[in-house]
Amino acid sequence: MRASSTEALPFSESQASRSAQQQVARAAELRKVHEAFAWFRSHARELEDLQLEVTSIAAPPWGEAARSAWLEARFSELALSDVHQDELGNVFAIRPGTDPNAPYIALSAHIDTVFPAGTPIEVRRDAGKLYGPGISDNSSGIVALLAIAGAMQAANLSAAAPVLFIGDVGEEGEGDLRGMRHIFHQPRWAANIASLVVLDGAGTDTIIAEGLGSRRYEVTVRGHGGHSWSDFGVANPIIALARIIDRFAGTPVPALPKTTYNIGMINGGTSVNSIPESATMKVDTRSASVEQLDRLESALHEAVDAMISDSAGHKKQELLSAEVRVIGNRPAADLPVESQLLKAIRAVDAQLNNAARIQRASTDANVPLSLGREAIAIGAGGSGGGAHTIGEWYDPTGRDLGLKRILLLILALAGMVDE
Ligand SMILES: [Zn+2]
Repeated sequence: MRASSTEALPFSESQASRSAQQQVARAAELRKVHEAFAWFRSHARELEDLQLEVTSIAAPPWGEAARSAWLEARFSELALSDVHQDELGNVFAIRPGTDPNAPYIALSAHIDTVFPAGTPIEVRRDAGKLYGPGISDNSSGIVALLAIAGAMQAANLSAAAPVLFIGDVGEEGEGDLRGMRHIFHQPRWAANIASLVVLDGAGTDTIIAEGLGSRRYEVTVRGHGGHSWSDFGVANPIIALARIIDRFAGTPVPALPKTTYNIGMINGGTSVNSIPESATMKVDTRSASVEQLDRLESALHEAVDAMISDSAGHKKQELLSAEVRVIGNRPAADLPVESQLLKAIRAVDAQLNNAARIQRASTDANVPLSLGREAIAIGAGGSGGGAHTIGEWYDPTGRDLGLKRILLLILALAGMVDE
């Protein structure tokens, strides 16, 4: 998951429909469900070990293969059906339901991290907390997939609908949700997934039901280049890029709908005494409103065009060219308040006495939401911090509340089958 906004709605019990509430209350009383809850507690240490193990396997963007293989092996050990990977490295496993015609209830966790290949990975356990890059985002989500599958298996819990477990690639950064997009382009999945519950990071206090839209750009300015002394006067792409940044960063953005921009990376030049031949920056823009994203896109193009027209009329070696390339485009879309999925998670939270707020963020749920399908993203329980840094940590205290919440939600959606 990437940074969520603070926009939130207060929890209201009336939003959970009575029938969803009754169904969840009934499920929570079943002996097998209690056995599954007990499994979460008795396997707390094993889950931590799995979390340290998966975190130690590097999974940079476009380099998730080793982790896909690891997850496929874990799914196979759990005796799930149809365990396999697709051509991108998305990993699938199914716990069959009792109704052969029911569509899938899908539970997913992204397996990629933001950390580039070669990032040193050191995992450790210290005073009850787990440490390592990606330990919370999203090793906690991956472990929750295995915990739900493991507890259902151990308690012999059946649901009417089949439960589809997915470990997907390419959620973070320039992966741009490529794994989940691919899944929703396959007829087998796209036509048969009734709801998708995305597990992303720690916590139990949020329900991401509103997809935050984002667009990313790579802007490259090119010039003639030359020697800093003998070619002085030749147009300098780094200076030109700085002018573009200065102009673009003056674009006003509204507080509501919250709209943001960031220049996250700049690159360019060959040495201190060379006039560079090119300079590049990466820009991230975010908003719940497509109009605001359009407005920021226009502002970026205007800043680039202004720089180009400033250099027009200059001598040939002073001319610069510029290119704006879209490197990411995540749709903005919301889950309707009256949806089954929102009613079900509200009912589960009421049952568990868990206070959670609706939030807007950019997650794998954006993909089905933008197709008009039901999806939410929730946390895997416990708490975490330092996401997207190598100092990331996870505290498993309270993980079992998160796991109970996920299990009850899946059972509510998939239809609980009595003993
Ligand atoms: Zn994440």
